[in-house]
Amino acid sequence: MVLRSDVNLARPKQPLHLALLEKCAYFEKEMPDLVAFRNSADHSDFLTYGRLKENILRVGNYFHSNGFKKGEVCAFVLPNCWEFAVSMVGAWTAGMTASAASVQFTHYEIHHQLVDSEAVVVITEDTYLEKVLQAVKDVPRIREIISIQSCPSPLPPNVIPFDKLLSTSPNFDPQTISIDMDNDLITLPYSSGTTGAPKGVMITHLNLAYTLDIFLDNERRKWEAMGVGLEIIIGKTSLAVLPQYHAMGMFTMVSLAYSGVQQVMFRKYNLRSLLEHTEKFEVTVLILVPAIITQLASSPLLDQFDLSSVMSISCGSAPLSKNVIDKIKSRLPITIRQSYGMTEMSLGSHFSRLDQPDEATGKLNANMEMKVLSQETGKECGPMEVGELRVKGPVVMKGYKNRPDDTAKTFDEEGFLITGDLVYYDQDGYLYVCERTKELIKVKGAQVAPAELEDLILGIDGVLDCAVTGIPDERNGEVPRAFIVRRGNHPTEEEIHRYVNERVARYKRLDGGITFIDAIPRTPSGKMLRRKLKELYLQETNSK
Ligand code: AMP
Repeated sequence: MVLRSDVNLARPKQPLHLALLEKCAYFEKEMPDLVAFRNSADHSDFLTYGRLKENILRVGNYFHSNGFKKGEVCAFVLPNCWEFAVSMVGAWTAGMTASAASVQFTHYEIHHQLVDSEAVVVITEDTYLEKVLQAVKDVPRIREIISIQSCPSPLPPNVIPFDKLLSTSPNFDPQTISIDMDNDLITLPYSSGTTGAPKGVMITHLNLAYTLDIFLDNERRKWEAMGVGLEIIIGKTSLAVLPQYHAMGMFTMVSLAYSGVQQVMFRKYNLRSLLEHTEKFEVTVLILVPAIITQLASSPLLDQFDLSSVMSISCGSAPLSKNVIDKIKSRLPITIRQSYGMTEMSLGSHFSRLDQPDEATGKLNANMEMKVLSQETGKECGPMEVGELRVKGPVVMKGYKNRPDDTAKTFDEEGFLITGDLVYYDQDGYLYVCERTKELIKVKGAQVAPAELEDLILGIDGVLDCAVTGIPDERNGEVPRAFIVRRGNHPTEEEIHRYVNERVARYKRLDGGITFIDAIPRTPSGKMLRRKLKELYLQETNSK
């Protein structure tokens, strides 16, 4: 049975950056003191909507007048800060596509994304400049490196200070850059999807404009059901702790700016600081990932702050256990609102509703279709039957950049996106995520692609075969564990850890450990049996 949303929103008329600039102009006129962004480290460092608009136009003008063309990719290696928001939206106004990488990435990982995304410019901060400079070596396509200066020491001569962009004239009309909403890309985030290494996810202007409209329509309905309009959130504060290189952080940043919500940008997550800011700004909705909620639920710090303003916690990106939900609800009188999504759907297909059960992960969004396919029979499931979720609709990506084969494998013959998630829906249409069948590992909500780690480990001298899988971990949700076939006694466990740690972001390390085995379990056709690896791990832990 294919389920269709009964809400159908009209096609958005304009790209997201133009909608946002219009909103900035409105707030500038009607509420000139309204703050859009504030950097958490220094509360005097903030942007009103007037300054936000002006700075976006300055950045747009910089790129436009320096020869950067529509469709060229601007890469970002930045922590959450207002400069990230300004430069990303600024690049969009010049018609460029944004591709953001995690600040935790090593220079190897940044290099890979710069090459694969075909980026022509990278914006970073001096804190990360050294690794960015290493990453751009042998990437001739990169024409400029731009850096925010956070400390007084001068930037190298080949690096352009971010202030130069902000001193460009704001006299720039982004309407002059014509955008083909259906085809031009607004972002190119990286995701491994159901299989393989991270790939560039092509998100069009139409994808993201629809996401904004669907999100706002859903929020409006929630607030109206509570007897107030969406305007109630104007001037409220939200804490931007989720990294903005990820779809969830990036979209939250834009949609809340559009809604008139002040965002306090966290360079780095820290529980005490999160609680201090929640109390100080009387935050009503916390937007978090399960790993943070897990920490929150059992932290004694919770009792040291006045959190009475918090009405709900919005959450997505990884499973949230029933235990944690019960624990946090026994300590705070809040509702939990989970949503479900995937980078390949711009953000998501199922957003939370007002009265949804705590364990549900939302209901099908406006303009979307879904089906759940039985793993055994391949037939479409009805309510309460577990199967693989597939979705279709205007927020689904155009495909993976330069990878037509991977793109083709990600869609079924009816054009539905294959999610690799086992789910069921109840009689009211609420979605429940049961399990992941795809390779992807999620550490604190961040993606770790087994194929990427396997590829790396296979490069170590003496490694004959290798497989990586995620194992459960209370603090992080999951952590990667490697199963390795080696020649004799080399390399040692220590040598492998050292090799991997030098090359990948902290959260991708083999914190789940290493098992040396004689052979990787495979099917006769050579396909890896990942489920068997998890069984091997369970046998190992049970025999201890
Ligand atoms: P990403 O592309 O990084 O957002 O990861 C998408 C994947 O995260 C999904 O395919 C799911 O496996 C997982 N995920 C997202 N939202 C949820 C949720 N609410 N509950 C459980 N898993 C989720």
